[in-house]
Amino acid sequence: MKNEYYLDFHIHSNKSRDNKYGPSINDIIFHSIDLDLRGIAITDHDTVLSNNQINQYQTYNSKSNLLVIPGCEVTTTLGHLIILGLTVNVQPDLPPEIAIKQARQEDVIVIAAHPFDPKYGLGELIFELDLDAIEINGRRPSQWNLNAKSAAKILHLPTVGGSDAHSCVNIGNAVTVFKRNVQSIDDILNEIREKRCYGKRIR
Ligand SMILES: [Zn+2]
Ligand SMILES: [Zn+2]
Repeated sequence: MKNEYYLDFHIHSNKSRDNKYGPSINDIIFHSIDLDLRGIAITDHDTVLSNNQINQYQTYNSKSNLLVIPGCEVTTTLGHLIILGLTVNVQPDLPPEIAIKQARQEDVIVIAAHPFDPKYGLGELIFELDLDAIEINGRRPSQWNLNAKSAAKILHLPTVGGSDAHSCVNIGNAVTVFKRNVQSIDDILNEIREKRCYGKRIR
């Protein structure tokens, strides 16, 4: 019996504007099943999967154990946010506090993506914003991730992991570890709220 479950909360498909030649949603799902991931979030830039698309993939997935969480990587004026549970697009390029308010009209989890990336991260602003978790990112140098881990500790927030994969080979490079075998999207969001998870770099 497994006692750790891995989920990747930051994956880009070919629907991301910076990733035209990236994997299709089907490719991502097949590869994630092959990696034995318990769940994934497809977090294209400023684009959420429509409700129809989500339902389609959940049906498609009903034969596997993979949970597909609706999500998005939202561009704010001061850095990127990963929002889990989002089904309605947040307007890009808003100040982060306004983007977070807009996202919280739904029951979402708000994550500071690669916070110490000087170009695309929120930096020390994370100490002022209404966040649920801090990301350990699969594409960023380990020092930036160490800083993210320390910041999460100071903020009493959990870390979560996301590969930031733009191709299938990088899926699962960083993951969120859950001790419990989560059973639904609500279950996943709840475990994060209860801080029963942590982010970890695998490769
Ligand atoms: Zn980003
Ligand atoms: Zn990204």
